Amino acid sequence: MAFDVNHIREQFPILKREVSGNPLVYLDNAATTQKPQAVIDAIVEFYTQCNSNVHRGAHQLSDEATRRYEEAREVVAAFINAPAKEEVIWTSGTTEGINIVAKGMAQQLQAGDEVLVTEMEHHANLVTWQQACKLSGATLKVVPIHDTGELNEQAFTELLSERTRILSMPHVSNALGTINPIQSLTAQAKAKGALVLIDGAQGVAHGDVDVQAIGCDFYAFSGHKLFGPTGIGVLWGRKEVLENWPVWLTGGEMIETVTYQDATWGALPNRLEAGTPNIAGAIGMAAAIKWFQALDVDAVKAHEQALLDYALELAKDIPGMRIVGNAPKKIGILSFVIEGAHPADIGFLLDRQGVAIRTGDHCAQPLMKRLGVPGTARASFSIYNTFEDVEALFKGLKKASMMLA
Ligand code: PMP
Repeated sequence: MAFDVNHIREQFPILKREVSGNPLVYLDNAATTQKPQAVIDAIVEFYTQCNSNVHRGAHQLSDEATRRYEEAREVVAAFINAPAKEEVIWTSGTTEGINIVAKGMAQQLQAGDEVLVTEMEHHANLVTWQQACKLSGATLKVVPIHDTGELNEQAFTELLSERTRILSMPHVSNALGTINPIQSLTAQAKAKGALVLIDGAQGVAHGDVDVQAIGCDFYAFSGHKLFGPTGIGVLWGRKEVLENWPVWLTGGEMIETVTYQDATWGALPNRLEAGTPNIAGAIGMAAAIKWFQALDVDAVKAHEQALLDYALELAKDIPGMRIVGNAPKKIGILSFVIEGAHPADIGFLLDRQGVAIRTGDHCAQPLMKRLGVPGTARASFSIYNTFEDVEALFKGLKKASMMLA
């Protein structure tokens, strides 16, 4: 199937708008992606046709809402090749998924146990484990990276031991774009008896995720980075592990029996999903996945790689520009600094030209410190970006660097 970027763009209404009198050039996709009409329609249709609460109604609307909500779970399960739909837990996003695992783990960890993370963590996967270690007395070990932004695999092997209770690391770095060799690292960690959580926030929208092939115990991701709505995400976990996982939130939906003195928990997935869920969000996320699955994944990857290659070529013409993170295996993320120019000023001047990027520490303060930069400017590409978008970025950067540097 030929990859037709114009056909894709037509499906994203927001791409037709202007910013500062210029056509919008949206290059902040690692923060959140735009939504195709199919997703917007699915949410509007839910609220206009069958809005109701799920699982407890004795009426048609509730039955319809429940059916769509549970079908959405099946869509997610098939998308990540989960063996069972009960292993798909709806969350508010990656952050909540990681917290479910870390808060549960904190009850089981003790002094002498170790938790392994990497130097390239998003705060969601660093602070959460740091706090779990503080609570439990376990030790947080941080796997170093090379200056290229690749994980130091030798150091990883050395840090891994029988004391490692869990490895929690990103599939793809949000600040640098590095794609980590999660399959082989997971195998090594499992061989030592550790659990493995993969932070999939940046992994899902750029290729095919197969949780069984990865071999991990948990995989967490967000709908909004996958062309779906905000406020919805998924924690996938292996049934044997999730079945006994300490409950996170308590309340309605997640119980089996309740007395004034005590309560027992229901079966998966409900035991980890207390309260009224984000029904429209789940339906919208499933619509996004279906929309994405209709595309040719290899063509999507090739398109994003071509955009990155073009950007790297044009970067050579900007005096003082340095790419931060140049791992050979990376997604379409261009993190950079320009000598003499503050990233925030670059972002501001680009915005005046309609080009949306992100600047700052990208929720990875220790990583910025490790790399010796106060922050970076980050352009991140997605399916609907064009070569003209890349040219607009560099036209803007030329102007900005003349004014600032
Ligand atoms: N991990 C990574 C690698 C991310 O990029 C993000 C989002 N920037 C998160 C975790 C947190 O995701 P969310 O804010 O959707 O919970």
